[in-house]
Amino acid sequence: TGTDVTVIGLGLMGRALADAVLTAGHRVTVWNRTAAKAEGLVSRGARLADSVESAVLASPVSIVCVSDYASLQQAFASVSGDLDGRVLVNLTSGDPEQARELARWADQAGAHTLDGAIMAVPSTIGTADAIILLSGSGTAFETHQPLLAALGDATFLGDDHGLAALYDVAGLSVMWGVLNAWLQGVALLSTAGVDASAFTPFAAQVAQETVGWLPGYADQVDRGSFTPDDATIATHAGGIAHLVRVSEELGVDAELPRLFGSVAARAIAAGHADRSYPALIEQLAPGSRAS
Ligand code: NDP
Repeated sequence: TGTDVTVIGLGLMGRALADAVLTAGHRVTVWNRTAAKAEGLVSRGARLADSVESAVLASPVSIVCVSDYASLQQAFASVSGDLDGRVLVNLTSGDPEQARELARWADQAGAHTLDGAIMAVPSTIGTADAIILLSGSGTAFETHQPLLAALGDATFLGDDHGLAALYDVAGLSVMWGVLNAWLQGVALLSTAGVDASAFTPFAAQVAQETVGWLPGYADQVDRGSFTPDDATIATHAGGIAHLVRVSEELGVDAELPRLFGSVAARAIAAGHADRSYPALIEQLAPGSRAS
């Protein structure tokens, strides 16, 4: 016994994680359903465990990265003993509720958990470009911070085990929001023969300007106070209608702008025409502070 860290799950991501902790000089135990995938790591000095339970008990902290929570449940189904205060850092992607459920199970098995979301590809693991969001046991995060830092830019979000998974999907929402909005602009400009590359510096300028509004708008949402210093929802709705009309006239798909319009229309129907744009939060999360 006696390695610093165990890595369970040696797929593309798990192998990158195990590589990073080996490179950082840690003594490493690994386990994978298909043992052959451990060969390269074993040749670099990792120890191969013959069961998940013995792998977890070999180190104070285990990093788990398998396909999904169903795989994780299967892998841990054979664990029958007490995990004796070990820390599980679960980097398997999943839903917030799955993370909370795993934390409850681990608690009963005598383990503490950190649940994480990796916002990076395997090749960046071990560098500052690999964003790793973690939530759950703050004590576990503090104790194992140097180890977690060897994986990438590891950030602790709070003690709700579901938070990392929630930040993960919220981040994806921002990503697809930006990508689809940019594509709408590319489509509009293409009708006048303008290349995506020619349009993109302007698109980036608008995106940057818009991002600059977010801290002030976040403050409005948090205070539940939507005084329009810039433009009312009614003014925005007029602009959105214009975007829909021009898209339609040019034969460009108008589904996305129409969706913007329908959210604004619901806010107006609810009596929020003269509030600032972030009052739309009430349409997305009823019962939030705009009501
Ligand atoms: P892979 O498909 O490469 O690896 C999957 C791993 O899960 C393998 O180790 C596999 O074992 C194991 N596994 C699957 N089912 C079971 C099971 N029933 N019991 C035991 N082990 C099982 O996936 P990745 O490594 O790419 O992804 C792993 C996790 O990391 C996912 O949750 C993914 O969303 C997340 N992630 C991946 C990123 C990426 O770019 N790859 C980016 C961000 C997050 P075996 O070798 O035996 O098949």
